[in-house]
Amino acid sequence: MTTYINHFIGGSTAEGSSTRTAPVFNPATGVIQKEVRLGSAADIDTAVKAAAAAFPGWADSSLAKRQAILFAFRELLNARKGELAEILTSEHGKVLSDAGGEIARGLEVVDFATGIPQLLKGEYSENVSTGVDVYTLKQPLGVVGIISPFNFPAMVPLWFFPLALAAGNTVVLKPSEKDPSAAVWMAELLKEAGLPDGVFNVVHGDKEAVDAILEHPVIQSVSFVGSTPIARYIYETASKNGKRVQALGGAKNHMLVLPDADLDLAADAAVNAGFGSAGERCMAISVLLAVDTIADDLVSRIASRMSSLTTGDGRRGCDMGPLITEVHRDKVAGYVEVASTDGATVVVDGRNPEVNGDDGGFWFGPTLLDHVPTSSTVYSDEIFGPVLSVVRVSSYAEGLELINNSPYGNGTAIFTNDGGAARRFQREVSVGMVGINVPIPVPVAYHSFGGWKHSMFGDAKAYGPQGVEFFTREKAITSRWLDPSHGGLNLGFPEHD
Ligand code: NAD
Repeated sequence: MTTYINHFIGGSTAEGSSTRTAPVFNPATGVIQKEVRLGSAADIDTAVKAAAAAFPGWADSSLAKRQAILFAFRELLNARKGELAEILTSEHGKVLSDAGGEIARGLEVVDFATGIPQLLKGEYSENVSTGVDVYTLKQPLGVVGIISPFNFPAMVPLWFFPLALAAGNTVVLKPSEKDPSAAVWMAELLKEAGLPDGVFNVVHGDKEAVDAILEHPVIQSVSFVGSTPIARYIYETASKNGKRVQALGGAKNHMLVLPDADLDLAADAAVNAGFGSAGERCMAISVLLAVDTIADDLVSRIASRMSSLTTGDGRRGCDMGPLITEVHRDKVAGYVEVASTDGATVVVDGRNPEVNGDDGGFWFGPTLLDHVPTSSTVYSDEIFGPVLSVVRVSSYAEGLELINNSPYGNGTAIFTNDGGAARRFQREVSVGMVGINVPIPVPVAYHSFGGWKHSMFGDAKAYGPQGVEFFTREKAITSRWLDPSHGGLNLGFPEHD
């Protein structure tokens, strides 16, 4: 009998009006576990109506009450994170320890959001003119939309909804249809934490549901994370419809290793950041820029580390799990052929890997390509798999130029023991998030996350101070308590006295 994953609207699960569904696989077995309902525009409208009905009460609830619910959610999530990690592993494929890391990074944002009273304080200027005060309020937007990708089914929604809710907004979340259960699990946990019905809603779906969010007149803002072409589409369409938009896109993150770097530490970092989560991270390192003098040495240290990596079912203690779908696995595998044709050296070939898992899983092992020409699509495309491409450069300057010429600008890293070179890099590189001897520089929750160039459209990054700004709008009040001396007519533009 087929099990369906339903929407979560107005505080309970809902089948919705659409009859369309999509399969949800266990990527480690290749077996369809469930079917997810693909919501229609009518389903989005039902969720938006529930969120709009809940908005006045939620926006009016005290900061103390909202804070208490977020604290309760935090405690529940922390206590039951093992359950969520199992869900992530079974639908995404990432290994359990990595699923735990994803939840920990999401929990950080909940921690940050529990401090919302401090973050929502406005400003006050006393006596700007005689007897006149000016002050600002940060108020919620209303109903906000969130659209998330498959690669972080818990963390990416958690980048947005804790702050959206803390600021007094109500939410409609459209998670990835490839691994949708985590979103519903979190919706149920929010309810258990005391969140009123209708404040947080989940509608599953694909383009039809997304377009309905982009066009719905009641939705005030859209927070999106996904691939660059869709991020651009979301940004253009939602902006055209008058919404506030933050749309985070794809990446091709370069790690530059200078000759003075500790090559063992650099090799560890390249392996961890290149193959963790099977390379399906927007902050994965996919290009290693090695300065000629140390390149052979570095490549051999990386290759020797790769020989100890295990690929398999995420529940079996392996280092790396499967890819998300068979189609994606085949696409990633195709790049190995392209690399050979384009003149690269295939140092470690991940096709036909040895696995600790079912034959039907979407397997592809860690792959190392050397001498990758920058004219190859292996270099320019976001492959989004465990494929590390080594490009040899003659100097820091050549490495920097390649990074700055990339259309993406999500993350980058430099490995060096030269403080002056690192400082130069942080100033000169055109990328939103920079690591100095840190390969995956995802900022902590009290800073903000976002790339430059084609890695982000819109001007507010995710979470941190920019997240608070995104989910609030400021109102400036100019106030004077009248007395008879303020009488008289004057049609001129108000001046201060
Ligand atoms: P995706 O763009 O295919 O899908 C993202 C969301 O958009 C999903 O909810 C999906 O249902 C929806 N969608 C897909 N096609 C659509 C269409 N034609 N019209 C409207 N909506 C559509 O991305 P994905 O494959 O789920 O995720 C991987 C991508 O996300 C990678 O490119 C990765 O770099 C990127 N990503 C970026 C960040 C970041 O912070 N910059 C973080 C995580 C993932």
